[in-house]
Formats: sequence, C-alpha cells, structure tokens
Amino acid sequence: MEVSKVRNEYSLSQFKVEGLLGSGAYGVVQKCVNTETGQVFAMKIIEKNKVIEKSMEEQVKREVLTQLKVKHRNLVRLHYYFEDSSQIYCLLEYADRGQLFAYLKTTGAQPEPMAARFFLDTGSGVAYLHQLRVAHRDLKPENVLLFGEELTAKVGDFGWCAEVASEKRLTFCGTLDYVSPEMLFGEPHDQGVDLWALGVLLFELLTGKAPFSMPSKKETMDKICAVDFTFDVRISPGAEELIRGLLLRESSRRMPLQQVLRHKWCDGFEAPVELAVGDLFFES
Ligand code: ATP
Ligand code: MG
Repeated sequence: MEVSKVRNEYSLSQFKVEGLLGSGAYGVVQKCVNTETGQVFAMKIIEKNKVIEKSMEEQVKREVLTQLKVKHRNLVRLHYYFEDSSQIYCLLEYADRGQLFAYLKTTGAQPEPMAARFFLDTGSGVAYLHQLRVAHRDLKPENVLLFGEELTAKVGDFGWCAEVASEKRLTFCGTLDYVSPEMLFGEPHDQGVDLWALGVLLFELLTGKAPFSMPSKKETMDKICAVDFTFDVRISPGAEELIRGLLLRESSRRMPLQQVLRHKWCDGFEAPVELAVGDLFFES
C-alpha cells in the first residue's frame, strides 16, 4: 500500500519523540520535535498492516490526502507526510492544549461566550470542508483540538471524512452521542450529519452533557431516533433556536451552516465569519 509517491524531504531520523499524545485504531500519535529546526509536531503513525487487515486502504488514503489539501484556521493542518514499507507518518500541527473533550470534562458547561467561540470555530472548519464537498462524519469533542492561549478550536481526525459527490454515503460511522438518526437507521446520509453533530456539540457546550446521553446504548439510540431532548439548564433563546434548528430528524430541514454561523446568537459574540474558499493547497 502506498498513499502516493513517497516523499523524501523528511525522514524519521530527523525527529525526536517526546511522548505519546493518543492512540487510535491504526496506530499512535506522538509529540515530536524536528531536531534541526526545533519545530514541534504531532506525528500520527499509521500502521499499514492494520489498515490492510481491515481493508481500509482507500479510507486512509482519503484521510491523508484530504487533510493535506485543506488549509483553514479551524482545521488541524497536516504539514507533511512520509512513509516506509510498514508505516505512514503524518506531521500534524501540534495541539498544545489537547482535546476539547478533556477540556469539557474538567470545566463542564461553558459560559455562553466561550461556548460560542468553540462552536463558531468548529462550525467554520466544517463549513470550509462542506464547501469542498467533504463531510467530516465524525465530529465530536474528542476530534476537536485546542490551540494556544486563545484556545482556538480546530477540527482534526479526518479518518471518516467522505467526499460527497452525487452518491450519498451508506457507511455507518461515529460515536453514539453524536450520531444522527439517519446514520442509526442506516439511511443514506450526507453533510447533514455534521449539522446534527454541531447541534449536539452546542447543546453539550452549554449544558455540560450530550442531549441524548443515557446509561445504555439502546436508550441513547431510542432518544436519538425520537429526537427526544430537553434543556435541564437555562440557556438563551438564541442558542436554543440554533440547537432546535440543527437537531431535526429530516436532514434537509436542518439550518444551513452559513445561516448557523451568521445567526444572531453567534453575531453577539464574534464578527461574522468569512467563508470564502481560497488557499486550498499548501505551498510545496
Ligand atoms: P480514533 O479512531 O480513536 O478517533 P484516530 O486513530 O483517528 O483515533 P486521532 O483521533 O487523529 O486518531 O488521534 C488520536 C488522539 O491523539 C486524539 O484524540 C488526540 O488526543 C491526539 N492527537 C491527535 N492529533 C493531535 C494533534 N495534532 N495534536 C495533539 N494531539 C493530537
Ligand atoms: Mg479520533
């Protein structure tokens, strides 16, 4: 398996590993430093034999090539990749503040301005992907990473992204709390699944828990399918309108992302988001 032409500009010997950042289905993510330049990266190491075992070659290629192509303030940047016979090494922008998931675990429900910032950051990254006709399909706080003093949120882990061309995707993927009804029902799905996940995210940011979270998977699935959620804490009417506009059973009725990002509730916290497509490719 080869992702594409092997790149020779970097090799493993130029990097010093500084510690484990996380692990996933196909390998690990290590913090590493380029010993020549001092630049810190997160190196995602993908084991080819694990990919081949699960017949996921095409998916992994898509992950790497999509992430290489996108360049946006709210998408984790893949600077570079190289490979040898057994592994693919992806040099990712290093998230010095870790996962949004861990942040929410320690801080709980967010004040509205903070929730709006995380939501707008994530939504802007997703909007950019959608403009490229790519659905992320695995949006959840584990896959949103935080950067710098400002805690800028960026969407990472493109492992499930799919280019949404004319055909809709039939594959089931994602973690239960953020999974849309159409995915649970095994129906065709498209970028609408990301809108649903953004609704779940906003709910969780503001209340400290996911809207359909229940002790058992079965109960969670039932609640998702019935779109059965209630607000236990008071949130502002604008935020509630957004959540209700996103958590709709019918994908086509969900509020379009451009409208979401320009919603008056978002406007109250940040200047309107620029959505122009541009700068698609890296300087080579
Ligand atoms: P899974 O399938 O379980 O989602 P994965 O193999 O797709 O995992 P990622 O989600 O990309 O891998 O990364 C696994 C974990 O490594 C992340 O949840 C995060 O904690 C850490 N990680 C990934 N990328 C970065 C990064 N750029 N900077 C810092 N930490 C990272
Ligand atoms: Mg992940």
